[in-house]
Amino acid sequence: MSLFEKFSSIQQARQEILQSGVNPFHLTIEKIISPTEAVINGHTTILVGTNNYLGLTFHPDSIQASQEALAQEGTGTTGSRMANGSFSSHNDLERAIADFYGMPHAIVFSTGYQANLGVLSALAGPGDTILMDGDSHASIYDGCRLGGAEVLRFKHNDVTDLDKKLRRLGDRSRRTLIIVEGIYSMLGDRAPLKEIVDIKQQYEATLVVDEAHSLGVLGNRGRGLAEEAGVEQGVDCIVGTFSKSLGSTGGFGVSSHPEFEFIRYTSRPYIFTASPCPSVVASTKVALRIIRETPQLRQQLWKNAKILYDGLEHIGYTLGAEVGPVIAAMIPSKEQALAMWQGLLEQGIYVNLMIPPATPNGESLLRCSVSAAHTPQQLETIIQSFANVYSQINEHAASVST
Ligand code: PMP
Repeated sequence: MSLFEKFSSIQQARQEILQSGVNPFHLTIEKIISPTEAVINGHTTILVGTNNYLGLTFHPDSIQASQEALAQEGTGTTGSRMANGSFSSHNDLERAIADFYGMPHAIVFSTGYQANLGVLSALAGPGDTILMDGDSHASIYDGCRLGGAEVLRFKHNDVTDLDKKLRRLGDRSRRTLIIVEGIYSMLGDRAPLKEIVDIKQQYEATLVVDEAHSLGVLGNRGRGLAEEAGVEQGVDCIVGTFSKSLGSTGGFGVSSHPEFEFIRYTSRPYIFTASPCPSVVASTKVALRIIRETPQLRQQLWKNAKILYDGLEHIGYTLGAEVGPVIAAMIPSKEQALAMWQGLLEQGIYVNLMIPPATPNGESLLRCSVSAAHTPQQLETIIQSFANVYSQINEHAASVST
């Protein structure tokens, strides 16, 4: 078999989906109008699948800062910080992140994916162990693999399983890294962080929390689940991304351990890639300031999340267990999920279609991400469209079974 022949199974799976008349593979945003609206297939469409939790992508202050940086510092950095040096703005952003978290050390990466790769692979290497939640994001899986540590999974959010696995490790638990997410990206549930911190302290392990979906969303100051749960002191390192609530691209790690700085010297995803562009750095820094200064955005996000969650639940959808900015409707089959996703798009609603193998437990999901920028009218339209596709699918199922 040639190297290229192995793609035939993927081609076949893709073909099967296309034969159902739905093409989720090449969705193009023809024109972006606002944080919550775009033109797709020629129609104005409400976006409820873009992780734009605080709706900051069009904030005038961020745009202005970005434009100024572009004019003053150019379009790109053309190399890594280790080779080419840092721009002052990289250092400033790191100070701003460290200050935001009240921790002394922060490192900026070019994406959130690379932040996980960089931090996890630098912390846990050969001879060490990683215990990861089974529902972790792909960047966590890849970061765990990159360092060469032994990688074990514990059952999603199951502290008893985590405890059992740490106990079995004996002395090795002290050289074990536990990695969990604040809010899980697919189903929107949260890690039981207080219990996890207790266990990590008992076994003297190291705990990293990925707050990608909880930064700007949870906690009094928007620092995430660790803040909300009151356990920031018990977390060794927080990683996160700029690509969701901060509305740009990039990622970071932040920690109180003085040794954290040395990750720069050992982390391949930090050393061997170009540093973030000045315009991106500038808008991120402003967005961080907006999160600090505007708790009303977070309050609006939660109001909107409750409206959408209650609305979808009322129609009859089975949803992820917790109200939050990630609301996943569980659909009984992949075929139904495809048809409903297409039906929603035709009615001018864009959500994320999540089907196996990319989902936990082989689930098919229509995943919504709520924004503080959604208007009451948009939320009503989203709920009404979900109601329409729900009844279409149920009518179809009834006609097939009779
Ligand atoms: N961690 C989690 C939990 C995520 O969901 C994502 C992106 N969806 C990332 C990391 C990677 O972030 P980025 O898109 O900035 O690379």
